[in-house]
Amino acid sequence: MTEVLIVGAGPAGLLLAAELRLAGIETVLLERHSQRPEFCRGFNLNARALDLLARRGLADRFVSEGWQVPHAASSGLPVTLTLAGTHTDHPYSLGIPQTRVEELLEEQAGALGADLRRGHELRALEADFDAVTATVATAGGEEYRIRAAYLVGCDGGRSTVRKQAGIDFPGTAATGHWLLGDVELADPAALPFGATTGPSGTVVVIPRTGYVRILTADRRPPADQDGPVTPELFRAALADALGHPLELRAVRWLSRYGDAARQAAEYVRGRVVLAGDAAHIHPPAGAIGVNLALDDAFNLGWKLAATVRGTAPAHLLDSYHAERHPAGAHVLANTRAQVLLGAAAADGRLGPLVDLLTRVARHPAGNRALTETLTGLDTRYEMPNEIGAAADHPWLGRLAPDLSLNTGQGAESVAELLATGRGLLLDLADRTAVREAAAGWADRVDTVTATCPGQPELGALLLRPDGHAAWLAGAADHRASGLRRALAHWFGAPAPEERPSTNG
Ligand SMILES: Cc1cc2nc3c(=O)[nH]c(=O)nc-3n(C[C@H](O)[C@H](O)[C@H](O)COP(=O)(O)OP(=O)(O)OC[C@H]3O[C@@H](n4cnc5c(N)ncnc54)[C@H](O)[C@@H]3O)c2cc1C
Repeated sequence: MTEVLIVGAGPAGLLLAAELRLAGIETVLLERHSQRPEFCRGFNLNARALDLLARRGLADRFVSEGWQVPHAASSGLPVTLTLAGTHTDHPYSLGIPQTRVEELLEEQAGALGADLRRGHELRALEADFDAVTATVATAGGEEYRIRAAYLVGCDGGRSTVRKQAGIDFPGTAATGHWLLGDVELADPAALPFGATTGPSGTVVVIPRTGYVRILTADRRPPADQDGPVTPELFRAALADALGHPLELRAVRWLSRYGDAARQAAEYVRGRVVLAGDAAHIHPPAGAIGVNLALDDAFNLGWKLAATVRGTAPAHLLDSYHAERHPAGAHVLANTRAQVLLGAAAADGRLGPLVDLLTRVARHPAGNRALTETLTGLDTRYEMPNEIGAAADHPWLGRLAPDLSLNTGQGAESVAELLATGRGLLLDLADRTAVREAAAGWADRVDTVTATCPGQPELGALLLRPDGHAAWLAGAADHRASGLRRALAHWFGAPAPEERPSTNG
């Protein structure tokens, strides 16, 4: 028996395990592969993901190992989408192999005490009223059953958890298919970096350390998309597109992918939850998958932890679906749009649309809006009505900036204070009313009295553990109107001795 069983040790499962352990939740993480994969799928963390990782003190470790590019990874329009001037503390895309991201997250989850079991594959699950029972097969040929209060499927696009739980996965089937090869060319000068168009197709070459990644259309995709891509098949596809053979010295990894876009109808069904690719698949345009998986895990971790502990309000776990399903839907639409834009050159009817969007993207405000929407920097969660003062503040529901503070306690920024994974109430105008209102939640929310020279108009700010602003008050506001309602909404009932006698 464990409190939470996570299936899949990719980016979503590893960050979720770290988040749950930070909150003290017993966590077992199953991974069917005995070893880390030798190939690397993704190569970037975006500004939003770095902002989130910074709220746990993790971003610097990634940043120190990667390379910074001051624009968003995007495709489809002939315009660079700049991150300068956007709402982020990390105005760049960070080049870093997904394999390294996973290693660092695994280190973090392990240091916090997650029980990672490699070579353990989930085969079946049964959910009942109290728990979920999973049947697990080990690489050594054994089989065992494990019960958990909640089971989270972070097991990728072909999720066994999603299928076993009977959760629908509606969307659009792939209309295009591509082959991917991480290879070493016998003659590195034989094919330049970037796109080369031959008589029957295009080949894209992306430089990597010690090898190149080559992409080309799979013009004869097999019925079984999981079927192997052999070196012969890959060579033939390249020769087909280029009109001449290309000599490969070594083949590291061959794969195929399509542009299907699907999303789980329910992210939460009873005690079964989905996150990352298990909850959504989309075309790879814009290199967003790892980032979206991390975003899901970050939103889910504190909510699931509070639900397991029994302090969460009844709606809290469902708010994971309510917040992340629309965010996922945006990514599906954005990535499909980028594929369509990329293909528009070949379809004269779409020319005017590409021209229009290109002009929008060349305008600074349009460029910024596109950058923020494609990277998720514009993520804003709905906050409940009637939470009181400053309800129309532009930060409400958004990830609050990493404010510099004078606390007199060592931690001098919002991100540092959030590293505990608890809620955070900043009392920035030394208001007794604010501190008294929050007293009943002291076991779940840290109240910190500080000054914030950069925000003299701000009197108080309540942040959820994921750093999203849940309530604000101006410096001139002496009451803490709506603060208790906001605290109860996100953190549950106050501790019994502190329950207010009025409904204020
Ligand atoms: C070619 C390619 C390039 C990409 N480039 C980028 C990029 O540049 N940037 C980016 O952000 N994203 C990129 N992506 C997308 C990104 O790789 C995925 O979106 C991301 O890995 C999703 O993370 P996840 O944790 O949800 O799932 P995964 O990383 O797929 O992890 C799922 C894990 O679950 C395990 N598992 C599956 N079933 C079971 C089971 N039954 N029992 C136990 N374990 C199980 C799997 O072995 C796997 O380790 C790319 C994808 C591809 C294919």
